[in-house]
Amino acid sequence: MKKNRLIRILCVLLSALITITAPSCAPSRKKHQETYFTFFDTVTTVSFYSDGNADAFFDTVRNLLEQYHRLLDIYNSYEGTVNLKTLNDNAGKAVTVSAELLDFISFGKEAYRLTGGYTNIALGSVLSLWHTCRTEALEDPDNAAIPDPVMLEEASKHTDISDIIIDDGASSVRLADPLMSLDAGAVGKGYAAKIICERLNDEGYTDFLLNIGGNVSACGSKGGNEIWKVGVENPQDTSASLCTLSLTDLSLVTSGSYQRYYTVGDTDYNHIIDPDTLMPASFYLSVSVLCPAPAMADALSTGLFCMDIESGKELVASLEGTEAMWVLPDGSTVYSDGFQSHIAK
Ligand code: AMP
Ligand code: MG
Repeated sequence: MKKNRLIRILCVLLSALITITAPSCAPSRKKHQETYFTFFDTVTTVSFYSDGNADAFFDTVRNLLEQYHRLLDIYNSYEGTVNLKTLNDNAGKAVTVSAELLDFISFGKEAYRLTGGYTNIALGSVLSLWHTCRTEALEDPDNAAIPDPVMLEEASKHTDISDIIIDDGASSVRLADPLMSLDAGAVGKGYAAKIICERLNDEGYTDFLLNIGGNVSACGSKGGNEIWKVGVENPQDTSASLCTLSLTDLSLVTSGSYQRYYTVGDTDYNHIIDPDTLMPASFYLSVSVLCPAPAMADALSTGLFCMDIESGKELVASLEGTEAMWVLPDGSTVYSDGFQSHIAK
């Protein structure tokens, strides 16, 4: 009788133990996925594995995407929100901003330092000339044109990053040059990914994949022991992958001339502007960056796209845990030393 009772108690204890340990290693965790079309002018897909309800997880993701989409918008104003458009509209004056916007602008300055000036959030005056021509060309392809070089040169005089004056104490930002403007396109999605990953980690979520328009952040695993696998788009055939990478706690960001461009005559003009020439950078078809920090990966992909291969390789080699793959105009690839070790077997 006593022996039976002991066996029963042991059985209860064992089943309790299985219930406690199973979620962390069971491959049977359920996949949850949501897709959003309204943020950052792109498609965002988020995948998440858990055995429980995913509503709170997706609430966090959606709210942060919305918050940063608004904060970094340069085209629209939102009631009650001081965003980049507010700063651009008030260039010359000090504007009180949220801690979130202040942090983003500080990161923009860091991105400039990191890339030797090739990723410059203060390039807005130049970028807007290209943006206008691109938009007009898409509406009326027969009259497509590129910006007037004299206007580009004039605009480039208003892109000095040191004219962004941050006052941490007053929580304000002043664009000291009244003709300058900010553009978050090169770093905004990666920065939002950084914020979202940090918040989700703080809330105890460890296994998810965030893809904001090709800015991919792979956290943890797919649940169980399965690693996230993500393809790198072939810039010459976007329906195919150049390679598939195994990612754990890594971000993969690609900047490519194929992602956004317009055509004048026989020439394609892409959306990434080389600050040296004020023209679309033409060293590569794409540059993909692997790096543990999502915002840095985004800043680097744009900056490397504007740098020659020697300078780019040197920069990547100097950064711990960072790798890159460059696709040259003839379709051939160049890798940093450790990139290929991430290619899935
Ligand atoms: P990405 O796709 O991350 O390389 O970012 C490209 C976007 O960043 C463009 O659409 C522009 O809005 C902006 N941009 C283009 N060239 C630069 C540059 N050299 N520095 C900073 N932002 C840029
Ligand atoms: Mg970028």
